[in-house]
Amino acid sequence: MARSGVRVTGATAKPPVENGMRTAFVFALAVSACSLATACGREANAGGMRDQAPCARAKQTPTASYSRTDFRGIPHYVNRPFTSDERAILRQAFGVVSPSHIYLSDSTTDGVLKYDPEVKPCAWCYVDSFRLGFISVRKPGESWDELERRVRGMRRSNFAPSSLVSTSSLSALDPKIQGEVKEMLDAAHRAGFDLHVVTTYRSPQLEALLMAEGPGRTHTLTSLHSYGRAIDITVGDGNPSSRATRTEWIAFRRWVTHYHGNDFRVLGAPDHTWDWPHVELPSDKIGFRSIEQALAAGKACLSGGARGACEFAPHLPPHN
Ligand SMILES: [Zn+2]
Repeated sequence: MARSGVRVTGATAKPPVENGMRTAFVFALAVSACSLATACGREANAGGMRDQAPCARAKQTPTASYSRTDFRGIPHYVNRPFTSDERAILRQAFGVVSPSHIYLSDSTTDGVLKYDPEVKPCAWCYVDSFRLGFISVRKPGESWDELERRVRGMRRSNFAPSSLVSTSSLSALDPKIQGEVKEMLDAAHRAGFDLHVVTTYRSPQLEALLMAEGPGRTHTLTSLHSYGRAIDITVGDGNPSSRATRTEWIAFRRWVTHYHGNDFRVLGAPDHTWDWPHVELPSDKIGFRSIEQALAAGKACLSGGARGACEFAPHLPPHN
């Protein structure tokens, strides 16, 4: 049977607006990384053995040691000592209570730093997982454990109605990826897939409401939807319990993860996931690629007195 074409529904575009405080954080991140390297070199040159200790601490823990998963499918959580200063930075800037629960997920080529308040016990055991430095409803100084408890006690009436934003408009995507997404959808149509775009942009508040309404509706509060870099796409009748639909959906998930190399990512495996519609395009400019990068950025944003801005800037305005 011939498949019908791509149908794109809905349209509630939001204008792209820079957020000053968060833009400042990205700038501070770059400056901090530079100053960290400079300070290390200066101290080493100045003081011989006595001054080599700060440089030794600044050495990178090999990212491969906390990247990807082990043979059981459990993340390689970081195994490295943290000083009390480093723990304070991770706690205050990024809500991390247990630094040994940090790892680099494989959701980008270089990985992106994530934190699991509760460690994952098996490959297909789902735990809540948060990307460090991503925008969310977390309050300054709040830990992820505290936020999870707060959100699970919330109801729709606790959110300002204007903050619960969701749209299926492609124009609400990050402008940098709109063209590529349109091309992908056109190519999928030519390949015969019957697709429906359900969601593109979703506000952090709506992401929080999904978690509050759970269980299992989301396992994060740091979504690429809030950066306009994720798309929920259903296939056929949108019911993965239907054998025919599931077969089509698996075929599309395989197809899209090979489109343009691996720009497009799905959660889990093409044939095994808790979130069938989700497709995302991570950015190498959003998220941290190493513990040291997060520490430098956290130190910079805390010393700047902008605790609420230890987050990467979305292209869309935050909704309160
Ligand atoms: Zn999604």
